[in-house]
Amino acid sequence: MAVLQIVEHPDKRLRLESKPVEKITDEIKTLAEDMAETMYKAPGIGLAAPQIGQNIRMVVIDVTGADEENMLYTMINPEITSKEGETSYEEGCLSVPGAFEEVKRAETIEVEYTDLEGAKQKLKADGLLAICTQHELDHLDGKLFIDRISGLKRKLAVRRMDRFKKEREKNQQNEESVNNEF
Ligand code: ZN
Repeated sequence: MAVLQIVEHPDKRLRLESKPVEKITDEIKTLAEDMAETMYKAPGIGLAAPQIGQNIRMVVIDVTGADEENMLYTMINPEITSKEGETSYEEGCLSVPGAFEEVKRAETIEVEYTDLEGAKQKLKADGLLAICTQHELDHLDGKLFIDRISGLKRKLAVRRMDRFKKEREKNQQNEESVNNEF
């Protein structure tokens, strides 16, 4: 297993329409494991393949808290088949680090997907699982959560992300200089 590099906005790979997975090969299974490890390490509650630079229709999701048992979903070629109600939640994204905004989504969804064993699955979800699933599936269509908020809020969110990245770079440089003293 390996932790993969997460692609960040404004990388163009986040904007492509991802292709269906034709066959669940060993390569796909390894990629799914690596994506889960990358998500847990980040830490995040969901990760879509385009976020690690692979434009294929696969996502991993685990919305359980630190004190709960893990419940990992690996969804291949997922499709939302029904949506009901409306809810909103302050979302963030590993590809837009440092920015959080309230986003409106359907409250309850039904999603159909293929699991890693090749079996068709149907899932009815509400709460955070429904929100996260909609967020991750957006990634497969080249959409980010900042596309679902007003233009002004988007500008502010991108500014916050830029500030976050600068801060992160500074911290990395500091760490490097500390390491260089040995
Ligand atoms: Zn995201």
